[in-house]
Amino acid sequence: MERESLEMDVVFVGAGPANLSGALHLTRLVNTHNEAVANGTREGKPLGEIQIAVIEKGSSIGGHILSGAVMDPRGLAELIPDFVEAGAPLESPVKEDHFLYLTGKHAIRSPITPPPLMNHGYYIVSLNRLTAWLGEKCEAAGVNIFPEFPGAEMLYDEADRVVGVRTGDKGIDKEGKRKPNFEPGVDLLAKVSVLGEGVRGSLTKKIVARLGLDEGREPQVYSLGVKELWELPDDRYPTGRVTHTLGFPSDQWTYGGGWIYGMQNRVVNLGYVTGLDYRDPLIDPHAEFQRFKSHPFLAKLLAGGKLIRYGAKAVVAGGWHAMPRLYADGVLIVGDSAGFLNAARLKGIHSAIKSGMLAAETIFEALLAGDFSASRLQSFEGRVKESWITPELRRYRNFHAGFRHGRWLGMANAGLQYITGGRAWGIFDRDHQEPGHEAMQKLSAYGYRGDDPAQRYKDLRFDGQLTFNKVTDVYHAAVAHNEDQPAHLHVLDTNICATRCAEEYGNPCQRFCPAAVYEMADNGDGQRRLQINFSNCVHCKTCDIMDPYQIINWVTPEGGGGPDYKGM
Ligand code: SF4
Repeated sequence: MERESLEMDVVFVGAGPANLSGALHLTRLVNTHNEAVANGTREGKPLGEIQIAVIEKGSSIGGHILSGAVMDPRGLAELIPDFVEAGAPLESPVKEDHFLYLTGKHAIRSPITPPPLMNHGYYIVSLNRLTAWLGEKCEAAGVNIFPEFPGAEMLYDEADRVVGVRTGDKGIDKEGKRKPNFEPGVDLLAKVSVLGEGVRGSLTKKIVARLGLDEGREPQVYSLGVKELWELPDDRYPTGRVTHTLGFPSDQWTYGGGWIYGMQNRVVNLGYVTGLDYRDPLIDPHAEFQRFKSHPFLAKLLAGGKLIRYGAKAVVAGGWHAMPRLYADGVLIVGDSAGFLNAARLKGIHSAIKSGMLAAETIFEALLAGDFSASRLQSFEGRVKESWITPELRRYRNFHAGFRHGRWLGMANAGLQYITGGRAWGIFDRDHQEPGHEAMQKLSAYGYRGDDPAQRYKDLRFDGQLTFNKVTDVYHAAVAHNEDQPAHLHVLDTNICATRCAEEYGNPCQRFCPAAVYEMADNGDGQRRLQINFSNCVHCKTCDIMDPYQIINWVTPEGGGGPDYKGM
């Protein structure tokens, strides 16, 4: 197949906060350098016009971005010091922090907020709006942004050096045949490619495995955040109030917690995080969130309100010891793709932005030297180590691992870590963690008979007022995919689904997917087969992470498909 090749200098894959910050910072570094050389205030050669591209699978910048979010402004303040005056879309400064422990019936407010959850000086933001705003800044600075261009494959030379990225083909039908509007993907050849695809990036996953970038690291672990926006009938929840909860509905072996953030115009943003290392195979993170809302405290808060938006996204939680090597020949990994998020503080926007800026400084130096080898790009890790990212992430380096011993020991462990600067149990520099999918137990371990979710969720009802089923919620994520294309969820062995998986785990994909993509449908002959409703997919990546046999591979669908998040 004939493919067009485009020569760029730098290609950023994914238009999230890390990559947009990197592209913007790099553009400025290059422009400042060229001007300084031209006016004689700096020695050396001008770099000339450097071609920088950001490719994005969504149809618009920010459309696939979802986060809580309370933003520590440290990163944004370094990128755009006057971000407030410059019109950054901030919902509100944080005005109050509440921390609640939820029992089945009561909400007990803690007199103290755990230090990692103190948010004074921070901002409640909609990350998808903030990302769209950063995209505008990039375009104004001359960065080429290409929405609807998913990164489908890395391009390597014969020495396994990354030489660019191939974007996805368009116009392939569901049988895999070319439609009349077929357009082959483009080979974007670049001196450096920057992977900032967000959590569990599909290209990042492959390159980490291919080049062994995770050798000697702990396995990455994740959580899943399920979120709704509600419009309330009055001002009962003030703008700027931040509430975090612990306890109900998670059991003590399931890492989890809730959030409620007060946005403008009587909108509350609430959600529930479930660790994707849960044990009970009947757990359904969407159902956990619906149960969270049915707690009397939440039910009262939301009474008379209206659901306006829904979304879900995995959260990278493994911390410092789970970060892969961040560089190889011709490539850097930034943001959530690399695991820069601080799970204890529930914050990653600031460090994603900073990681993008440090990547830009590394690339700028490489452009000056004309050297894009791993030994040159290695200085990215040095920059990260010298920056404020490292003390922050090292302080919480064993946070998530401590919770595999259950909620209470996890809390005690977190306290000891806090006092000792991050040492597990106050003693060990590095705790170990297992991949989350390995934690899932079989149905038999819980005494379950079959996969009836009522065995765990006895009282859960979807009443269409306070609680919603997945299909209704997905409607509020404004998801759209062209249905006449191959499914972008590759299940490598569907025989396992109807046999081993049904028997051992009761097909947990039906539950861990928050968008009702996976369904065991009746074959008509008494057998069941896996049906994949891929057009519902909100790109949260949970199936790629949590499948117990690791046979689900999430790949990018045709460009433009996916959720269309607004205000999330
Ligand atoms: Fe998330 Fe996978 Fe379901 Fe898509 S199919 S919504 S990536 S779990």
